[in-house]
Amino acid sequence: QQIKRVVLITGSNKGLGFGLVEDILSKSSQQFRVIMTARDQQRGEQAFQKIKAKYPEEEVDFHLLDIEDDQSRESIVKYISEKYGKIDILVNNAAYLLTHDLFSQPEGYQPSVETAKKTFSINLFGTIQMTQEIVPFLTDDGKILQISSRAGQISRQPQQTQQLLNNTEAFTVQKITELAEDFYKQCENKIQPKDQRWSFSAYEVSKCLLNAFIRHVGLSLIKQNQSMYSITPGWVKTDMGTSNAPRTVEEGNDTSYYLISSVPFGRNDQLNCKFIADRNVIDW
Ligand code: NDP
Repeated sequence: QQIKRVVLITGSNKGLGFGLVEDILSKSSQQFRVIMTARDQQRGEQAFQKIKAKYPEEEVDFHLLDIEDDQSRESIVKYISEKYGKIDILVNNAAYLLTHDLFSQPEGYQPSVETAKKTFSINLFGTIQMTQEIVPFLTDDGKILQISSRAGQISRQPQQTQQLLNNTEAFTVQKITELAEDFYKQCENKIQPKDQRWSFSAYEVSKCLLNAFIRHVGLSLIKQNQSMYSITPGWVKTDMGTSNAPRTVEEGNDTSYYLISSVPFGRNDQLNCKFIADRNVIDW
């Protein structure tokens, strides 16, 4: 009997995360054990029951996980080590967007420090911490999928910031923390165009710094045969993407599902720590 690979998906009670659970169970039946997670017990339990009812033959578990909460991450790591020992694939899907921080921004919008901190705490630091804490439990040929966004491409940032982000020297998590602090500082003041260091969207900057983490720090975190990918799903109809988005959840998950099910486990220099859209590498 084939040994099933274990996949953990953050924020899988709805949207793309939930859809990815369905893709895996319906298109790769009996090949994976899936750990669904959610930050809210009730929302998570409801989603889990839906999956259990639809795919009764499949192995699926549910565990509470709020990625911005240290104790919650600690608890999932304990659960993995006790129940599974190791996991094969981590999908860092969970994220937060204050809708008007990206879509239909009001005239003269600048994110508040509160919005910046909330967004970064989930999209950037929660995701980085999940990555760092799961790596010791990732199988030797395991994969980490980071669900990012085209909104994080550095071309959206002012020229001087682009240069900064392209400079790989001494790029560490500490450096990312300093850049986040610099963004909070920008949010504290009404900025004149000449003083603008970051784009006016906490979501864009959070995904941009997440990409910088994957690009500059990613390879140093993983072992020779492990892989990490940054993925953009495109603009997808979910609560976050809104009903204006052109893509269905299944279309949005195509690249993630491809990386999970079709790209072989093990070293992959073409894709490792790259930014991927529609199955192809794109610019950061
Ligand atoms: P949704 O808002 O529909 O779902 C987000 C999920 O993340 C929810 O399950 C939410 O839980 C969960 N979540 C939020 N904060 C936390 C947290 N602190 N801990 C654990 N889970 C949390 O968004 P999408 O499905 O659209 O987005 C999925 C990913 O795709 C995100 O990374 C997003 O940035 C990315 N993306 C989406 C695009 C789109 O057009 N939809 C475009 C580009 C990228 P809860 O239900 O409790 O809020």
